[in-house]
Amino acid sequence: MRIECPFCGERDLSEFTYLGAARESAAGVAAAQFAEPHVAAVYLRSNPAGVHRELWRHGYGCGSWLEVTRDTRTHLISAVRLAREAAP
Ligand SMILES: [Zn+2]
Repeated sequence: MRIECPFCGERDLSEFTYLGAARESAAGVAAAQFAEPHVAAVYLRSNPAGVHRELWRHGYGCGSWLEVTRDTRTHLISAVRLAREAAP
């Protein structure tokens, strides 16, 4: 899989770090409220099938935080933008 960084261009996945869902589902957030914080962070992430917005960091590149819209069934990336632009 390759990710198109807005600053560096298309780069290999190995340059990026996955940081979780950009916005967790209501069910995932509710489940996390009843678990120890470190357990929730590792085991209670939602894993939806289909189009999903994820937070990635280009740690071995420019260091930017990115919101990646990806289909978890096909790994096809439909959009990449800076996380700060995606923040509500
Ligand atoms: Zn970059």
